[in-house]
Amino acid sequence: MSIRVGIIGYGNLGRGVECAICQNPDMELKVVFTRRNPEQVKILTEGTVVCRLEEAAAWKDKLDVVILCGGSATDLPMQTPEYARLFNVVDSFDTHARIPEHFANVDASAKEGGNVAIISVGWDPGMFSLNRMYANAILPEGKDYTFWGRGVSQGHSDAIRRIAGVKDAKQYTIPVESALKAVRAGENPELTTRQKHTRECFVVLEEGADAAKVEAEIKNMPNYFSDYDTTVHFISEEELKRNHSRIPHGGFVLRSGVTGWEKENSHLIEYSLKLDSNPEFTASVIVAYARAAYRLASEGQTGCKTVFDIAPAYLSAKSGEELRASML
Ligand code: NAP
Repeated sequence: MSIRVGIIGYGNLGRGVECAICQNPDMELKVVFTRRNPEQVKILTEGTVVCRLEEAAAWKDKLDVVILCGGSATDLPMQTPEYARLFNVVDSFDTHARIPEHFANVDASAKEGGNVAIISVGWDPGMFSLNRMYANAILPEGKDYTFWGRGVSQGHSDAIRRIAGVKDAKQYTIPVESALKAVRAGENPELTTRQKHTRECFVVLEEGADAAKVEAEIKNMPNYFSDYDTTVHFISEEELKRNHSRIPHGGFVLRSGVTGWEKENSHLIEYSLKLDSNPEFTASVIVAYARAAYRLASEGQTGCKTVFDIAPAYLSAKSGEELRASML
């Protein structure tokens, strides 16, 4: 019997999860829950229903795992604890500073409901976190580096869109090539914010807006842009649609460390991602962890977990025997 999956929230990530489930024959999408009018939410999977979120409780014994696809800012802090009481759940909560608080809230309600919850799954947090942790455990004496990009930052794009005179905008975060080169060469550089990443903005102006004023406002925006070398390009709405409608992302996690009695040998661990679609890749990671949540729950485990707590074999559709024969 396949793993029965539900989705809560149908945005970019929700659509990505729907596609990822299609690539995993041991899983079946049973229902999508939304806060909007279900008739206005058109999904792709034939035979799967769209329901109002208020109806979720009625599905308690009909789903093996529910994937939460709401936003980290306001949806997940409420939704994950609430639905961990009813279902095994997985989310992609990515507000790094608030993960300990989110973990505690979700852990309490998952234990109360006798369910498993896996939080902060995706690529960062997620696969990048795992690679940071593995590299630190293996090379205790060393230095960590994370570079993000080239990719779209939704938060920075939104910040530009809020400036008066801006009709639309996309912002790309780009790692500084020379900084990456220095890390890869084992130079262990101390890097400032400005030395690690640059920011490139593509902006569509409202009719009659003052380009110089908008550019200055972007470049001087505290937290978002003032600590970076930022380039601003003004383009037409058509060009933005044609060349900048995808949501690519990626980056690099590196650790350079030393071993030997005299610390005479150096080592470099590098993990990199180059993603055409941030939400579709995030969704693919989440779906593998949904399989793990189901298996852990089947073993009688309860409570909140993160990627650090899940043994790798739980992610794979292959059996232990198949994995040992083909991948070890
Ligand atoms: P999104 O497209 O804005 O969707 C968020 C929610 O907004 C949806 O669940 C949906 O809920 C609602 N929504 C979507 N489209 C709507 C529309 N047209 N009108 C009204 N409401 C709409 O956000 P997303 O791109 O899927 O990202 C979700 C979260 O994933 C982000 O907040 C981020 O934290 C996380 N994320 C994590 C990672 C990672 O590596 N860990 C990577 C990428 C993203 P309803 O269906 O209930 O209305």
